[in-house]
Amino acid sequence: MMSALSKYVFYPAWDLKDGSQRLVEWRQLEKQQWWSQDNLGRLQLNRLRTLLSYAEEHSPYYRKIFKQLGFKAKDIQKLTDIERIPVTTKQDIRNGGDQFISDQLEKQALVSAKTGGSTGVSLNLYFDETCQEKRNAAQLMADRWSGWDLGMKRASVWGNPPVPGSVKQKLRHNLLDRTVYLDTMDLNDQSMSSFVERWRKEKPGAVFGHAHSIYIFAKYLLQKGITDLRPQGIVATSMMLLEHERASIEQAFGCKVTNRYGCEEVGLIACECEQHNGMHINLPHVYVEFLDANDRPVTQGEPGKVVVTDLNNFAMPLIRYRVEDVGVFGERVCECGRGFPLLERLEGRVADFLRLPAGGQVSGISLVERTLTKVPGIEQMQLIQEQINEVAINRVKGREYTEKTDKELEQAMREVFGEEVVLTINDVEEIPQEASGKYRFSICRVNQ
Ligand SMILES: [Zn+2]
Repeated sequence: MMSALSKYVFYPAWDLKDGSQRLVEWRQLEKQQWWSQDNLGRLQLNRLRTLLSYAEEHSPYYRKIFKQLGFKAKDIQKLTDIERIPVTTKQDIRNGGDQFISDQLEKQALVSAKTGGSTGVSLNLYFDETCQEKRNAAQLMADRWSGWDLGMKRASVWGNPPVPGSVKQKLRHNLLDRTVYLDTMDLNDQSMSSFVERWRKEKPGAVFGHAHSIYIFAKYLLQKGITDLRPQGIVATSMMLLEHERASIEQAFGCKVTNRYGCEEVGLIACECEQHNGMHINLPHVYVEFLDANDRPVTQGEPGKVVVTDLNNFAMPLIRYRVEDVGVFGERVCECGRGFPLLERLEGRVADFLRLPAGGQVSGISLVERTLTKVPGIEQMQLIQEQINEVAINRVKGREYTEKTDKELEQAMREVFGEEVVLTINDVEEIPQEASGKYRFSICRVNQ
């Protein structure tokens, strides 16, 4: 009853009151996801032209760059014409600062967000209300792909849960957000046990959170033999969903995991549908490219650096913004019939790639994943490369741990890094979290 009320009464009423674009945009997205690739291509080209024209006129940073290049937004004929504009890096935003922001708008009136500094660069970003509402609409669309629906309660496994403060926030929390939180900054048997109790009372329809945090909770459920938490959807959002973690989560909840990829800077980039076979790119909102080391498009199926143009953000345009992640684009059409193309997989952040002393790089995430399957007795692990010839391995002992485990672990690492590398194995209780609540399994601190 409350679910239906929330879906049909409270959501629309709230959006009406706030003059929000969210539901209008959401209804559009619900249709657009089924459009043909041709129609979506035309939609993207129109939106890209509008964004570039606006940036040319109102963003001092891009105005200058376009001028230097002799680039005119109105001349853009096809999507790939955008390749004439250089890639925007985090460092560019750091240096350019307010130069990115539209000269038509007051910075104080905008919504601001600060990104975490885990890639070494923390950024201040700005967008207007409409942009935020559109991002929320995309979330709604993708949340529904997971099995969740409007009005259902949510369970959230996050760091630093927001505590409603004002009366308005409390009202909104009770009527709309209806969320049960597990604070991942404080994960222990007691906090997880009381979360299970709250879950049983509130019966959330879906659980959202960082993949590894959901995994820790799933492991707890499996250990305790708790089998009655049955959500209709599970959304993992931390970008790297390891296969064995996905399997444990699905076993614990009896429900498929929906992997999602997005970032603070541009919102939802891609998300799995109910097929769970690749992530559909949020085409109406982002134009995504996959580039090689020289910022040229990679061949289809090859890993490339993810570069995103946010088609919603006019307040602080981000054109060809390099997210510092590596992903693989696919030409395959998903069986669900949606027109949004597929991001086949993510290979990790650029900073997750470890350097090989003999030259070349290895995806740290893939290496961790492979080692966990190959070497019995390791529950979790994290690789940290401080120097080119120095790799620290933080590992959590698993049930099958024996004195042979570390030998085999070292052997597996030697096969990849060679004999000269100094390997240190640290026995840890758990993998430490970043300040954002995210986990990283592979960190390279050698200059890339
Ligand atoms: Zn699909």
